Amino acid sequence: MPAEFTSPVAAGTGWPDDPATPDTPVAGSAHDVRRSAADAPTLAELDARVSVCRACPRLVEWRDQVAVDKRRSFATEPYWGRPVAGWGDPAAELLVVGLAPAAHGGNRTGRIFTGDRSGDWLFAALHRAGLADRPTSERAGDGQVLRRTRMVAAVRCAPPANAPTPAERDTCAPWLDAELALLPTVRVVVALGAFAWQAVLAAVARSGGSVPRPRPRFGHGAEVELGTWLLIGSFHPSQQNTFTGRLTEPMLDAVFTRALSRLEQGAPRL
Ligand code: SF4
Repeated sequence: MPAEFTSPVAAGTGWPDDPATPDTPVAGSAHDVRRSAADAPTLAELDARVSVCRACPRLVEWRDQVAVDKRRSFATEPYWGRPVAGWGDPAAELLVVGLAPAAHGGNRTGRIFTGDRSGDWLFAALHRAGLADRPTSERAGDGQVLRRTRMVAAVRCAPPANAPTPAERDTCAPWLDAELALLPTVRVVVALGAFAWQAVLAAVARSGGSVPRPRPRFGHGAEVELGTWLLIGSFHPSQQNTFTGRLTEPMLDAVFTRALSRLEQGAPRL
């Protein structure tokens, strides 16, 4: 990425796939997020609004600081340093939901699961399943294309220690609610990790959808019918899981094989 970008990157200054312009409205509070998400008319406008949000003071400070300090190995690169919007096929049938951008992954590249080890695993698996054109995802504008698939983070800003607070989770939730509402073609949701699993169930409940009680427990390969979707759980492809063998490539492949099998069944939307 050319070094002429500021870190964080200013909206609408030419970063590949930057959804925002200098005129995109900036949410500065939880109230702003609720209102701005609810009246976003299109997925593209939602992405734009997400990408300039400043509603969580701790996360704004953290993402900005990481973008300025940088990791030594990326010291010469500009850092995105903004919220990371959903990315992929706007008519996706499969939605992959993660926790939050990585400090030196999505927070650096501006694209979800791009430029970090978790993404290496995830995109390789999607490529093996025929859902991504390339087995790698290194930077925005690298030519990677998702097929039938979109991916989002439940919390759109990189949090310290990968741990958003409950208040930050709740503040960001309307962006996910709006995204789900603007993706009517989705029929399978893959939740990477327990946080994403709970975030999806909560979003369905907020939308008035039916969620079994007690709420289904997360597990690798766990499945829940949620009216219009099948929700599938997968261990997150974090290094903590992949280094220890808790998640293997065949295990991750099995999740996407199952997702594709469901899509090929052509289950009707309710
Ligand atoms: S976590 Fe979500 S609500 Fe909070 S600042 Fe980032 S995009 Fe906005």
